[in-house]
Amino acid sequence: MVPERRLRDELIKFGRLCYERHLLVAMDGNLSALLPDGSILCTRAGCHKGFLEDDDLVVIDRSGRKLRGAGNPTSEMQMHLACYEERPDCRAVIHAHPPISIAFTIANVSMARCVLPEVVLTLGTVPTVPYETTGTRKLADSLRPYVREHDAVLMDTHGAVALGTSVLEAFCRLETVEHTALITKTARDLGGAKELDAKEAAHLRSMGLKRYGGPPAAVAKADQPGADLPAACVGCSGCANPHPQGIAPKSELRMARVTSQPMAPSPLVEAAIAQAVLRALST
Ligand SMILES: [Zn+2]
Repeated sequence: MVPERRLRDELIKFGRLCYERHLLVAMDGNLSALLPDGSILCTRAGCHKGFLEDDDLVVIDRSGRKLRGAGNPTSEMQMHLACYEERPDCRAVIHAHPPISIAFTIANVSMARCVLPEVVLTLGTVPTVPYETTGTRKLADSLRPYVREHDAVLMDTHGAVALGTSVLEAFCRLETVEHTALITKTARDLGGAKELDAKEAAHLRSMGLKRYGGPPAAVAKADQPGADLPAACVGCSGCANPHPQGIAPKSELRMARVTSQPMAPSPLVEAAIAQAVLRALST
């Protein structure tokens, strides 16, 4: 059992790290940890997580009622309560707004795919919870089936929730989600993101669940074909057969290139220039 003083220091430290690592800005996000007596230490509403002080932390009971501290818990605390309720192994929850991961949900590009071996091994896939209004019980309830089987989830056009047996573990998972999003986005910008072979992905996931553990409901599937990977991953055979909602189709974005020859403008650009010249001449 981690004493309250240490948990307070950890929430303050990891709140600052979330801000410094661009996982949240302004008054975004919230952090919480389970106290030895079963109550929950959490950030209060309306404080900047990059500059947390002791007074920004409040203690609530398992129904969300404030027990101690100044200020009020945020309405988003319902999401945290749902996580603790669904996952008795969970001792810390971080909710943040990691920008690239959120962009994936806005662009309707799933992150529940098998791209990086180490992520499949240690975290598995990251599903997206369908859109619900922020701060509502409906959103908190919609998280439940997802957090039962995943340690990190995305909420459509909103943000991420990461669970851990410690604040450090929840932070690592949150950071891993955003890092995966950055690598995947960069690969897509370079022409396309290939996915792991389905058999290898299932082998890695099964190995990871046995070696490192994970959500009890996922660990129970470690020996099943495809382990706990979604059906779309099991049916996928890598980049040769991209799933329609997978990540293999490349984006239209391109990196700038240095060339030795001046580049010829595209017909579209040429037409736009010609129009601008005509407009300038006719005035
Ligand atoms: Zn939020």
